[in-house]
Amino acid sequence: MGTVVSQTVYTDREGVTEQVTELLDTLEQDTLSWRAEGSEVAAVNAAAGSDAFVPLSDELRGYLEVLLSVSENSGGAFDVTIGAVTGLWNIDAWAASASAGENAEDGAAGIPDREAVRRALELTGYEKVQLSPEGIRLPEGMRLDLGAVGKGIACDELATLLSQLPQTALSGAVISVGGSILTYGEKPDGTPWQVAVTDPFCTEEYAGVLSLTGQWCVSTSGDYERYLEVAGRRYHHIMDPATGYPADSGVRSVTVVCKSGILSDALSTACFVLGAEEGLRLAEHYGAEALFITNEGSFVMTEGMEALFRP
Ligand code: AMP
Ligand code: MG
Repeated sequence: MGTVVSQTVYTDREGVTEQVTELLDTLEQDTLSWRAEGSEVAAVNAAAGSDAFVPLSDELRGYLEVLLSVSENSGGAFDVTIGAVTGLWNIDAWAASASAGENAEDGAAGIPDREAVRRALELTGYEKVQLSPEGIRLPEGMRLDLGAVGKGIACDELATLLSQLPQTALSGAVISVGGSILTYGEKPDGTPWQVAVTDPFCTEEYAGVLSLTGQWCVSTSGDYERYLEVAGRRYHHIMDPATGYPADSGVRSVTVVCKSGILSDALSTACFVLGAEEGLRLAEHYGAEALFITNEGSFVMTEGMEALFRP
């Protein structure tokens, strides 16, 4: 998934960490990746514009149902059909080449012109997706992009994997898949899990710590994760589907805590696009806890988050 995975598993069983790695590889290669030929999402995208419905696995259908409902409830701030826009910007490749030491002029050349952005935007729109018992159908040129939720989905699948192990064999685990973290069970000493929230103003440091007991998913979306600066302006990887440009809603990061990984991950992205005020309402609608770090460096959070977060 183009990210770092770290895991701590309290177990007396051999091979649990290998099972975790295997599950992540399979999920990426077989289902979610739009890059991996042979994945389900790639097949759906390749068939866009054809009359036939593409059959879906129960898993992908389930994910898409959740994602389309988040799209609707966020007024389109989250949009799983954003692929043509993210493909045009290609921030991932861009940021990777920048961190590999290539110069910023290359980045400048990579900013798409307004007309190209407008055309790509026309190829997006979650309300144009047809989901039926037969499968899914996308209009010509539309591309699904599950990049906002792959890591959260992985957390859900990992929680299922861990829950299937004998309870005597595994007492607790904390697994971090890029910007999403699963806490599961208990630490041997019974103290809460401590999850640091990155300080977006100084990413080597943290803005505070979440104390979590038992099973939770935590996802953060931030403008510091994948970006390039060109002529003093930051172009990051979270797009506003209303404009086709990087979202600019007054926040630098959003952290969402809830029981579901797909929801925490989708909501963190949606809330980043919406900003603190509307984002709070969306999080509350889902019964999720959210923490916004604003451009001014202040914290805005749901009531329940106050009990979990220590600045
Ligand atoms: P995250 O870091 O979890 O917020 O996810 C960001 C990734 O989600 C990007 O790299 C894109 O692949 C995708 N993405 C960007 N903007 C949106 C959006 N508005 N709705 C859904 N997915 C998006
Ligand atoms: Mg996300």
